[in-house]
Amino acid sequence: LALRRGYTELKAGKSAVDAVTAAITVLEDDPHFNAGRGAVFTHDGRNELDTSIMDGRTRKAGAAAGVHRVKNPILLARAIMERSEHVMMVGDGAEVFAAEQGIELVDPSWFRTEKRWQQLQRRLIEKRQGALDNDRSGRRYTGTVGAVALDNHGGLAAGTSTGGMTDKRYGRVGDSPIIGAGTWADDRCAFSGTGWGEFYIRTAAAHEVCARMRYLNEGPAEAGHAVINVDVPALGGDGGAIVMGADGRIGFPFNTEGMFRGWIGEDGVPHIAIYAEDPLPLPSASAP
Ligand code: ASP
Repeated sequence: LALRRGYTELKAGKSAVDAVTAAITVLEDDPHFNAGRGAVFTHDGRNELDTSIMDGRTRKAGAAAGVHRVKNPILLARAIMERSEHVMMVGDGAEVFAAEQGIELVDPSWFRTEKRWQQLQRRLIEKRQGALDNDRSGRRYTGTVGAVALDNHGGLAAGTSTGGMTDKRYGRVGDSPIIGAGTWADDRCAFSGTGWGEFYIRTAAAHEVCARMRYLNEGPAEAGHAVINVDVPALGGDGGAIVMGADGRIGFPFNTEGMFRGWIGEDGVPHIAIYAEDPLPLPSASAP
């Protein structure tokens, strides 16, 4: 559905930003993903949402962190990009702005799902028992959502939305709302990341991948691999990303067991994959 929504926007001649917004809104509303409804819980049992969006054509960007009442955080990121003079807003101030912009606010309980609550409880028990083998437990951060798109006019855009990591501290902000870490788009490259956010910040992962494409002339798969599968693990992190070039080529680097991903090309046929050995993207695919 997310792929089709994004594709419909592009087919109608709308911008990559419209496609990314449409796709992410669907995923935020779906309780299976760690974004919007279904977000993971902080250590003290809240949902705190982080998000960002970037328009590669104008290099405008919008981001919000630590919000807990905005039903679709990506709409707030977009409003910050388009209707404020700022790039990033946090917490209560971001929500006051959301309300002023007519963006739907909900009771914080809207985001709660039993599955994520149990995930937090399990983690707290394991921690108490000292049973965590290490902090890389994938259970902490599966399901962040992101989208990249290329429109009919050659514009690229990227967006990311997340509840962050299970058991994170109150006030912790990950990479997803940080432009250049979790999200980036310019005239040649769009990136959205998922993984252990602290490491994406420390490697400036999103910008680093796009810089490699610009300066080393690497493709999205190659540049993505160099950062996500080499630089991030070298510091002790892990995760994945979706990367797209201005020629429509896409890359899906990840070093976790799997990464849910999908793409749709000009032919409008949606593709999805989870594990590394799943079918590879079409060279012409243009809107995962
Ligand atoms: N990168 C996100 C964060 O650290 C989590 C994720 O991708 O699932 O907040």
